[in-house]
Amino acid sequence: MISEKYQSLFSHTPDVIVTSPGRINLIGEHLDYNGGWVLPAAIDKKITFAIGKRADNALHLYSMDYENLEIVPLSNIVSSAQSWVNYLLGVVEQFQKEQPLSSGFNLVFGGDVPLGAGLSSSAAVEAGLAFAINELFDLKKPRMELVKLAQRAENQFVGVQCGIMDMFASMMGQAGKVMRLDCRSLEFQYFPFDFKDIKIVLCDSDVKHSLADGQYNIRRKQCEEGVSILQKYDPSVSTLRDVPLSFLKKHRDEMPLLVFQRCQYIVKEIARVEAACKDLERHDLAAFGQKMFETHLGLSHYYEVSCPELDFLVKRAKKNEAVFGSRMMGGGFGGCTINLVKTAAIPQFIEDMKTAYFKKFKIDLKTYVVTISNGTTRLDA
Ligand code: ADP
Ligand code: MG
Repeated sequence: MISEKYQSLFSHTPDVIVTSPGRINLIGEHLDYNGGWVLPAAIDKKITFAIGKRADNALHLYSMDYENLEIVPLSNIVSSAQSWVNYLLGVVEQFQKEQPLSSGFNLVFGGDVPLGAGLSSSAAVEAGLAFAINELFDLKKPRMELVKLAQRAENQFVGVQCGIMDMFASMMGQAGKVMRLDCRSLEFQYFPFDFKDIKIVLCDSDVKHSLADGQYNIRRKQCEEGVSILQKYDPSVSTLRDVPLSFLKKHRDEMPLLVFQRCQYIVKEIARVEAACKDLERHDLAAFGQKMFETHLGLSHYYEVSCPELDFLVKRAKKNEAVFGSRMMGGGFGGCTINLVKTAAIPQFIEDMKTAYFKKFKIDLKTYVVTISNGTTRLDA
């Protein structure tokens, strides 16, 4: 479909076709900016890109999902009123800064990663385009460099101070495996996550509370405040990753209660991810799922980034015997919950969740059964 549209718009076949997925994160929430570990994976919801060189220096960018063509001169990359264009231009700008592209290009892109649901459709766009440009112009940048370039695009051009996890997961994913990414060193390791009888089901609350961005910044500051208090006692502490729980507790009276509670969640979550990976090595999904519930409790009561809709979905899931684990996923105040559910019980689970959610909030719950899949891939080669 993407290729056909490309052909009909530009009257030639694309040079390169790339697909780039959205992502989930099993455990390790709000840890990327605290130097901890996260456990993301790429999913089978993807954005596909057909791209080809132009003889001139223009960018012809067509969005299948917005049904819109934008033409931008390569010499004048400035913020567009159309927000989707900025995710592309941010990436082009990063390439231009290093070495100007030798020509413009034609692009058609689109896919099925739900927008704004916390599955990182934006990172899929950025990682996918960065990979496509790298292939089209044969620039030979390694994947991890493209990950960092895509993150800079979102930070600098779109203006969202996201961490590196989303682009990393989209670019580096492997089918049937989660990745433990050390957000401090950027070292990573794959862990098998391929269970026959269990699938990952996302429940999309369909809410995004307006506090999300402001509260995100406040949490970051509260963690920094905790670190700066603890640094007085141990100058080697640079993030909460360096802080043992006993050390934090020893100094609890020297910090505001809220700062202590935020830090305590982070320190516990960092330890939880390590323990959760050991569960995976032992194929102990019951223990792993239990930790997801604990994460949710921490995010809801101590980090305070949940909301009534997410709490309701997790509580309801927890009552269901077919559910191994459930928690809110992402920054919070809306988006999806991630649930590990016995395959045979998924239809009943979905029906129960939909009915209960509609009864309580009058919102039609959207659900996605996702499979852990490969990251950004070239399809035409
Ligand atoms: P998410 O959690 O999905 O990353 P964001 O708000 O960060 O949510 O990014 C969503 C934005 O990314 C959309 O509003 C749009 O501008 C852009 N985007 C994502 N997917 C697509 C797509 N398939 N086509 C065009 N733009 C897209
Ligand atoms: Mg995003």
